[in-house]
Amino acid sequence: MDAPKRRRRLKGWARAALGVLAGAAALAVLWLLVLRPLSVRLATAGTPGAQVEIPDWIDQDLLPINSHSRPGRPLRQVNGVVIHYVGNPSSTAQNNRDYFANLSLTRSTYASSHFVVGLEGEIIQCVPLSEISFCSNDRNDDTIAIEVCHPDETGEFLPETRDSLVRLTAFLCESFGLEEDQIIRHYDVSGKICPRYYVEHPEAWDALKEQIAAAMAPSPSAETAVP
Ligand SMILES: [Zn+2]
Repeated sequence: MDAPKRRRRLKGWARAALGVLAGAAALAVLWLLVLRPLSVRLATAGTPGAQVEIPDWIDQDLLPINSHSRPGRPLRQVNGVVIHYVGNPSSTAQNNRDYFANLSLTRSTYASSHFVVGLEGEIIQCVPLSEISFCSNDRNDDTIAIEVCHPDETGEFLPETRDSLVRLTAFLCESFGLEEDQIIRHYDVSGKICPRYYVEHPEAWDALKEQIAAAMAPSPSAETAVP
Protein backbone atom coordinates (compact mmCIF):
# COMPACT_ATOMS: atom_id res chain seq x y z
CA MET A 1 0.00 0.00 0.00
CA ASP A 2 3.06 2.31 0.35
CA ALA A 3 3.93 2.44 -3.31
CA PRO A 4 0.77 4.20 -4.58
CA LYS A 5 1.07 6.79 -1.79
CA ARG A 6 4.66 7.52 -2.83
CA ARG A 7 3.52 7.90 -6.43
CA ARG A 8 0.84 10.34 -5.32
CA ARG A 9 3.42 12.27 -3.28
CA LEU A 10 5.74 12.33 -6.29
CA LYS A 11 2.89 13.55 -8.45
CA GLY A 12 2.27 16.28 -5.91
CA TRP A 13 5.93 17.30 -6.07
CA ALA A 14 5.88 17.18 -9.86
CA ARG A 15 2.80 19.35 -9.93
CA ALA A 16 4.43 21.87 -7.60
CA ALA A 17 7.61 21.90 -9.69
CA LEU A 18 5.58 22.39 -12.86
CA GLY A 19 3.73 25.24 -11.19
CA VAL A 20 7.01 26.92 -10.24
CA LEU A 21 8.38 26.42 -13.76
CA ALA A 22 5.24 27.83 -15.35
CA GLY A 23 5.38 30.82 -13.02
CA ALA A 24 9.04 31.41 -13.84
CA ALA A 25 8.34 31.13 -17.58
CA ALA A 26 5.47 33.63 -17.29
CA LEU A 27 7.73 36.04 -15.41
CA ALA A 28 10.48 35.63 -18.03
CA VAL A 29 8.03 36.37 -20.84
CA LEU A 30 6.69 39.39 -18.94
CA TRP A 31 10.27 40.63 -18.43
CA LEU A 32 11.37 40.06 -22.03
CA LEU A 33 8.28 41.37 -23.80
CA VAL A 34 6.99 44.07 -21.48
CA LEU A 35 9.13 45.17 -18.55
CA ARG A 36 12.58 45.32 -20.17
CA PRO A 37 11.43 47.19 -23.32
CA LEU A 38 9.46 49.55 -21.08
CA SER A 39 12.44 50.22 -18.80
CA VAL A 40 14.68 50.91 -21.85
CA ARG A 41 12.05 53.22 -23.31
CA LEU A 42 11.84 55.16 -20.06
CA ALA A 43 15.66 55.32 -19.69
CA THR A 44 16.12 56.64 -23.25
CA ALA A 45 13.10 58.96 -23.44
CA GLY A 46 15.08 62.16 -22.89
CA THR A 47 17.84 61.47 -25.43
CA PRO A 48 18.17 63.54 -28.65
CA GLY A 49 17.50 60.45 -30.78
CA ALA A 50 14.14 59.82 -29.11
CA GLN A 51 12.80 63.00 -30.78
CA VAL A 52 13.76 61.97 -34.34
CA GLU A 53 11.03 60.54 -36.53
CA ILE A 54 12.20 57.74 -38.83
CA PRO A 55 11.11 58.29 -42.47
CA ASP A 56 9.29 55.53 -44.36
CA TRP A 57 12.22 54.83 -46.72
CA ILE A 58 13.97 53.21 -43.76
CA ASP A 59 12.84 49.69 -42.86
CA GLN A 60 12.74 49.31 -39.07
CA ASP A 61 13.59 45.75 -38.03
CA LEU A 62 14.91 46.33 -34.51
CA LEU A 63 17.06 43.76 -32.73
CA PRO A 64 15.72 42.17 -29.54
CA ILE A 65 17.11 43.91 -26.47
CA ASN A 66 20.08 41.78 -25.35
CA SER A 67 23.52 42.13 -23.84
CA HIS A 68 25.50 41.29 -27.02
CA SER A 69 23.99 43.53 -29.72
CA ARG A 70 21.35 45.84 -28.24
CA PRO A 71 22.11 46.57 -24.60
CA GLY A 72 19.41 49.27 -24.35
CA ARG A 73 21.88 51.85 -23.01
CA PRO A 74 20.89 55.47 -23.68
CA LEU A 75 22.77 57.38 -26.42
CA ARG A 76 22.90 60.65 -24.49
CA GLN A 77 24.61 62.74 -27.18
CA VAL A 78 25.29 62.40 -30.90
CA ASN A 79 28.55 63.98 -32.06
CA GLY A 80 29.10 62.04 -35.24
CA VAL A 81 28.13 59.39 -37.76
CA VAL A 82 30.59 56.50 -38.24
CA ILE A 83 30.65 54.64 -41.57
CA HIS A 84 31.71 50.96 -41.73
CA TYR A 85 31.83 48.22 -44.35
CA VAL A 86 30.47 44.79 -43.41
CA GLY A 87 33.65 43.00 -44.56
CA ASN A 88 31.56 40.07 -45.79
CA PRO A 89 31.25 40.39 -49.60
CA SER A 90 27.77 39.85 -51.11
CA SER A 91 26.01 39.56 -47.76
CA THR A 92 22.71 41.46 -47.70
CA ALA A 93 21.44 44.04 -45.24
CA GLN A 94 19.01 41.44 -43.88
CA ASN A 95 21.85 38.87 -43.46
CA ASN A 96 23.81 41.36 -41.39
CA ARG A 97 20.80 42.46 -39.35
CA ASP A 98 19.98 38.79 -38.60
CA TYR A 99 23.60 38.10 -37.63
CA PHE A 100 23.37 40.91 -35.04
CA ALA A 101 20.02 39.58 -33.80
CA ASN A 102 21.40 36.04 -33.44
CA LEU A 103 24.17 37.27 -31.16
CA SER A 104 21.48 37.39 -28.47
CA LEU A 105 21.51 33.57 -28.69
CA THR A 106 25.05 32.67 -29.81
CA ARG A 107 26.72 35.32 -27.60
CA SER A 108 29.85 34.79 -29.71
CA THR A 109 30.82 38.46 -29.77
CA TYR A 110 29.53 41.97 -29.17
CA ALA A 111 28.49 43.67 -32.42
CA SER A 112 25.72 45.73 -34.01
CA SER A 113 25.04 48.98 -35.84
CA HIS A 114 22.14 51.40 -35.94
CA PHE A 115 21.67 50.88 -39.69
CA VAL A 116 22.72 48.50 -42.45
CA VAL A 117 22.66 49.73 -46.06
CA GLY A 118 22.25 46.87 -48.55
CA LEU A 119 23.42 45.97 -52.05
CA GLU A 120 20.20 47.22 -53.66
CA GLY A 121 20.12 50.40 -51.63
CA GLU A 122 17.74 49.05 -49.00
CA ILE A 123 18.18 50.45 -45.48
CA ILE A 124 17.41 48.46 -42.33
CA GLN A 125 17.40 50.06 -38.90
CA CYS A 126 18.57 47.64 -36.17
CA VAL A 127 18.94 49.86 -33.10
CA PRO A 128 16.86 52.95 -32.16
CA LEU A 129 18.60 56.35 -32.38
CA SER A 130 18.06 56.73 -28.63
CA GLU A 131 20.30 53.74 -27.81
CA ILE A 132 23.97 52.87 -28.34
CA SER A 133 25.13 50.17 -30.75
CA PHE A 134 28.32 48.06 -30.54
CA CYS A 135 30.27 49.16 -33.62
CA SER A 136 32.73 51.98 -33.13
CA ASN A 137 34.89 51.17 -30.10
CA ASP A 138 35.16 54.11 -27.70
CA ARG A 139 32.86 56.24 -29.87
CA ASN A 140 29.86 53.94 -29.26
CA ASP A 141 28.69 56.37 -26.61
CA ASP A 142 28.33 59.43 -28.83
CA THR A 143 27.89 58.32 -32.44
CA ILE A 144 25.44 56.68 -34.83
CA ALA A 145 26.90 53.68 -36.71
CA ILE A 146 26.12 52.65 -40.30
CA GLU A 147 27.29 49.30 -41.73
CA VAL A 148 27.43 49.19 -45.52
CA CYS A 149 27.24 46.08 -47.75
CA HIS A 150 29.56 45.60 -50.74
CA PRO A 151 29.78 43.02 -53.56
CA ASP A 152 33.46 42.07 -53.38
CA GLU A 153 36.70 42.12 -51.39
CA THR A 154 37.67 45.64 -52.53
CA GLY A 155 34.91 46.99 -50.29
CA GLU A 156 33.79 49.56 -52.86
CA PHE A 157 30.09 50.37 -52.53
CA LEU A 158 27.69 49.92 -55.47
CA PRO A 159 26.05 53.10 -56.85
CA GLU A 160 22.60 52.17 -55.41
CA THR A 161 24.17 51.48 -52.02
CA ARG A 162 26.14 54.73 -52.10
CA ASP A 163 23.03 56.75 -52.99
CA SER A 164 21.13 55.34 -50.00
CA LEU A 165 24.13 55.88 -47.71
CA VAL A 166 24.30 59.53 -48.83
CA ARG A 167 20.57 60.01 -48.23
CA LEU A 168 20.68 58.32 -44.81
CA THR A 169 23.79 60.14 -43.59
CA ALA A 170 22.44 63.52 -44.77
CA PHE A 171 19.19 62.79 -42.92
CA LEU A 172 21.11 61.95 -39.72
CA CYS A 173 23.33 65.04 -39.99
CA GLU A 174 20.27 67.26 -40.42
CA SER A 175 18.45 65.54 -37.55
CA PHE A 176 21.33 65.97 -35.10
CA GLY A 177 22.80 69.25 -36.43
CA LEU A 178 26.08 67.64 -37.52
CA GLU A 179 28.65 69.10 -39.93
CA GLU A 180 30.59 67.37 -42.70
CA ASP A 181 33.68 66.87 -40.50
CA GLN A 182 31.56 64.88 -38.02
CA ILE A 183 31.07 62.16 -40.65
CA ILE A 184 33.94 59.76 -39.99
CA ARG A 185 35.19 56.29 -40.84
CA HIS A 186 35.74 53.48 -38.35
CA TYR A 187 39.42 53.96 -39.38
CA ASP A 188 39.34 57.48 -37.92
CA VAL A 189 38.27 56.04 -34.54
CA SER A 190 40.52 53.03 -34.10
CA GLY A 191 42.82 52.73 -37.15
CA LYS A 192 40.95 49.63 -38.33
CA ILE A 193 40.94 49.29 -42.13
CA CYS A 194 37.20 49.98 -42.31
CA PRO A 195 35.51 50.84 -44.59
CA ARG A 196 38.33 49.27 -46.62
CA TYR A 197 37.90 50.94 -50.03
CA TYR A 198 37.45 54.38 -48.45
CA VAL A 199 40.56 53.96 -46.30
CA GLU A 200 42.66 52.78 -49.25
CA HIS A 201 41.22 55.51 -51.53
CA PRO A 202 41.05 58.72 -49.47
CA GLU A 203 39.92 60.67 -52.54
CA ALA A 204 36.84 58.40 -52.79
CA TRP A 205 36.13 59.11 -49.12
CA ASP A 206 36.40 62.87 -49.68
CA ALA A 207 34.08 62.59 -52.70
CA LEU A 208 31.55 60.61 -50.65
CA LYS A 209 31.56 63.21 -47.88
CA GLU A 210 31.12 66.01 -50.43
CA GLN A 211 28.13 64.14 -51.87
CA ILE A 212 26.61 63.89 -48.39
CA ALA A 213 27.25 67.57 -47.68
CA ALA A 214 25.60 68.47 -50.99
CA ALA A 215 22.56 66.35 -50.07
CA MET A 216 22.28 68.12 -46.69
CA ALA A 217 21.81 71.70 -47.85
CA PRO A 218 21.88 73.90 -50.96
CA SER A 219 25.46 74.05 -52.21
CA PRO A 220 27.36 77.34 -51.69
CA SER A 221 27.74 77.73 -55.47
CA ALA A 222 23.94 77.66 -55.86
CA GLU A 223 23.68 80.40 -53.23
CA THR A 224 26.37 82.57 -54.75
CA ALA A 225 24.78 82.14 -58.17
CA VAL A 226 21.90 84.35 -57.00
CA PRO A 227 22.64 87.90 -58.23
ZN1 LIG B 1 34.00 49.05 -38.92
